[in-house]
Amino acid sequence: DAQVMSLTCVAGLGVSGTAVARVLAARGEPVVVVEGVEGERQRAVAAELAGLGVEVRFGPMELPEGVTRLVTTGWAPHHPLIAAALEAGVEVVGEVELAWRLRPAQAAPWLALTGTNGKTTVVRMLTSILLAAGRKALAVGNVGVPVVEAVAEPYDVLAVELSSFQLHWSSTLAPHAAAILNLAPDHLDWHGSMEAYAAAKGRIFERAGTVVYNVDDPEASRLAAPYPDKVGFTLLVPKPGQLGVVEDLLVDRAFVPNPAESAEELATLADVRPLAPHNVANALAAAALARTLGVPTDAVRQGLRDFVPDPHRMAHVERVGEVDYVDDSKATNPHAAAAALSSYPSIVWIAGGQLKGADVDDLVRRAAPRLRGAVLLGVDRARIAEALARHAPNVPVVDISAQDTGAMDRVVTEAARLASPGDTVLLSPAGASLDMFANYPARGEAFARAVRGLEAAT
Ligand code: ADP
Repeated sequence: DAQVMSLTCVAGLGVSGTAVARVLAARGEPVVVVEGVEGERQRAVAAELAGLGVEVRFGPMELPEGVTRLVTTGWAPHHPLIAAALEAGVEVVGEVELAWRLRPAQAAPWLALTGTNGKTTVVRMLTSILLAAGRKALAVGNVGVPVVEAVAEPYDVLAVELSSFQLHWSSTLAPHAAAILNLAPDHLDWHGSMEAYAAAKGRIFERAGTVVYNVDDPEASRLAAPYPDKVGFTLLVPKPGQLGVVEDLLVDRAFVPNPAESAEELATLADVRPLAPHNVANALAAAALARTLGVPTDAVRQGLRDFVPDPHRMAHVERVGEVDYVDDSKATNPHAAAAALSSYPSIVWIAGGQLKGADVDDLVRRAAPRLRGAVLLGVDRARIAEALARHAPNVPVVDISAQDTGAMDRVVTEAARLASPGDTVLLSPAGASLDMFANYPARGEAFARAVRGLEAAT
């Protein structure tokens, strides 16, 4: 019958791909995994999967004979394996979409969110709030556990972080509530255009019970506009139907008995860490999602207080010679770097890496008045240098041409030389790290090591 005839191909032995293969094999469905890299890790995973009856094919990215469905975690449409499937008329679904389709009837509701930046932070804040409310909640998706692994487990609620890649390959998700945090150019090389990127993000709203959106972000607002049942969040005084800020309080004017006349206090600004405008927006987004499930205000406050910020996101490393060193290595696009650059008054900026097709002109123009110096590294550093020459011609710029990971020591030495007492040396690169480092944590750790080296030398 049709069930026996179906063969699912899984794209790659990554964490999610492996989880998909395991879950399908446990259901007795035939699975074949195609993987290009035959390293030690991959061979070990393949051996484990073989025990479950899953075949792993190493080698060229070719679609195996007889495949009726391809599952990907987020490979691009132009990837040879995906392109071959699309060409052959084989259905391509994301891991998250598959998880949604496989979930049992009484499965936990999803609180889903996406955005260019802040996803991990908001998912963690949200989970913290839900736990404070006594709900058995789990963060899934891009962070932590693959969705497909968690969907049948006995949780009360899943906090689901969705990338634009996963949304691109999703079509039927119907979360209890869904949020778009913000939208700025990123991953344009993957999606092909800003329109296609925004359209992918916008899919999160299509079947959501409640739409949550950033009122202060024009693109997020535009994507939310068609939906009647929506809740906004803003850094300004909230209107009815919104969460926002009044003096030093985060307040809710949506999930209250009479939004036209009253608001309820959720927390104070001091409950938000690190305290920066973009992070207040993150806290409001998390609160709004939690409130769609009736979480009380006390739990919102407690959850925000319990929240531990992740490393490499505006993390203070050291103060050396009255200069603060801050690791924001996670700022892998200009929009994220903008958040950090607007959070300190006087900055020696360390930037560069892979810009992924994004434009830095606007970022540099806005940051220019705060810049005391810049140290540039990585493949796309010339693009940043050009923008600095246009908008901050008097700011000293040091160009580090070395591409080896040891270059970070020189970067930090040069930054220290440019900094005066009271300045912040800020690693907020605006680009991805993969040209020089294994990943953004490795970049941040190299920075922190170099900073500690400075301290030892003084
Ligand atoms: P994501 O999971 O979307 O990559 P993270 O929470 O890991 O988001 O944060 C990524 C980067 O973006 C960090 O440098 C962080 O300081 C910055 N950031 C976090 N929230 C926001 C926001 N709401 N707007 C802009 N930048 C943000």
